[in-house]
Amino acid sequence: QSQELSQVQIDYHAALQALVEDGTRMVCTGRMHTDRICRFESLCYSTEAEEFVFFHSNASVMLPNLGSRRFQPALLDLSSVEDHNTQYFNFVELPVAALKFMPKPVFVPDVALITNRFNPDNLMHVFHDDLLPIFYTMQQFPDLDLESRLFFMEGWSEGLHFDLYKLLSNKQPLLREQLKTLGRLLCFTKSYVGLSKITTWYQYGFVQPQGPKANILVSGNEIRHFTKFMMEKLNVSLEESASEEYIVVFSRTINRLILNEAELILALAQEFQMKTITVSIEDHSFSHIVRLISNASMLVSMHGAQLVMSLFLPRGATVVELFPYAINPEHYTPYKTLSTLPGMDLQYIAWQNTDQENTVTFPDRPWDQGGIAHLDKAEQERIIKSKEVPRHLCCQNPEWLFRVYQDTKVDIPSLIQVIRQTVKLKPGPKKQKWTGGLYPGKVRDAKCQASVQGTSEAKLSVSWQIPWNLKYLKVREVKYEVWIQEQGENTYMPYILSHQNHTFSENIKPFTIYLVWIRCIFNKNLLGPFADVLLCST
Ligand code: UDP
Repeated sequence: QSQELSQVQIDYHAALQALVEDGTRMVCTGRMHTDRICRFESLCYSTEAEEFVFFHSNASVMLPNLGSRRFQPALLDLSSVEDHNTQYFNFVELPVAALKFMPKPVFVPDVALITNRFNPDNLMHVFHDDLLPIFYTMQQFPDLDLESRLFFMEGWSEGLHFDLYKLLSNKQPLLREQLKTLGRLLCFTKSYVGLSKITTWYQYGFVQPQGPKANILVSGNEIRHFTKFMMEKLNVSLEESASEEYIVVFSRTINRLILNEAELILALAQEFQMKTITVSIEDHSFSHIVRLISNASMLVSMHGAQLVMSLFLPRGATVVELFPYAINPEHYTPYKTLSTLPGMDLQYIAWQNTDQENTVTFPDRPWDQGGIAHLDKAEQERIIKSKEVPRHLCCQNPEWLFRVYQDTKVDIPSLIQVIRQTVKLKPGPKKQKWTGGLYPGKVRDAKCQASVQGTSEAKLSVSWQIPWNLKYLKVREVKYEVWIQEQGENTYMPYILSHQNHTFSENIKPFTIYLVWIRCIFNKNLLGPFADVLLCST
């Protein structure tokens, strides 16, 4: 491993001198431990103590300087999963003078991204918690380029999908265990610690039942930039021309099986007049699966992590997620949320087995595969009788595991019927126009003029100019929204107008001050910002 690190030559003496003279320097972004990413120079790691070390000298910088709030509960989250108490990062402090008594530091010359993977054996977690966040953390800091190196500190071995992590940089990612082989005291010349959460769309239910994140900040556009990067690295080219259309059934071969898969495939092929193929993680290489999915018209699969591969579907494709008996699709929506992100342009359909005759349970399996034999008899009976798993927290609810690891015989007519409610003709990639909208700017030069007629009637003429960016855009429909609010009142009168001026006479009183708010709207739903409020006295 150590020859790995020497690819970039560094002057050992200069690096040591920088550490001894300047100590560790840290500057972070983010106001809370949950949104913080820190940049370090000369951050060290003791592989014996398994602790990061901040060396204090007169030149050290520690921003934010939180005092003991650094432990309440931590400096930052090392994984993208918010505020998880197994994923916290901190360091211990030493004066640089202590270096005299410590092992000779080994310097890491590459720019490092130091982070935790959350669950590297589960494909959903791999993409959602690790790959997308790493990719966009690297985009955020220009020196985290393809020559930088990933350090995974969660302590897992490579895991099932290590090849995917390797695509993110040209250097082999290093695991916590491997650091021991490099030296007793490692010092990262330049490093970033933490992970951006900006692309995550789902919370797994650690504090409240699982569901979409409250404030989703990612759209299909960013997802597709990422998948394009991954496909280039995997040497999968996007076939532009519409070759034969087909449906992919992504099957699980170990558990949560579709018991009548052959029948399902035949039925789909017949109903949609399309070739229908199956893939599974167990039987196909990752690039093969990506190649197939990236040109598919429809992806059909049991609820499960393999459905995160909808990331790679072309715009316009359909995702069909199958749920076992007693699992309410509305309560488990990581893949629905993904498919329906703005700009993903996928059609999402959920089907649930509602027929107890068609489900096969496994009460005698180990608890983590859904067995319930370890529970008392009354609880076992309650679970077996229950028609729906009540909402619950992550991750070891026995009723949830019992139900989600059932095998299912899919009732073909009911499945075709729910698909047909959404997919009328043929499913599949439509050459769609880019519908992601550009928003109007503020209207300009807003003016008002009042006229009073007698003691009870008044008029207010308001005019404005088009937003500055409109003259460069082709917009189907331009409208203006005007709110007229009497000063001191909480309510206002809203108007939608097509022209750039209007005379208001309804409910306008003489000798009154009105606040007039104006904004532009493109194509019905692209609301621009309000211009500075106009003060108009009648
Ligand atoms: N998995 C699979 N085939 C199977 C069972 C599991 O490919 O028959 C994969 C699954 O896609 C996931 C990992 O193994 O990446 C762990 O599966 P698990 O059932 O624990 O998680 P879930 O799919 O419910 O998120």
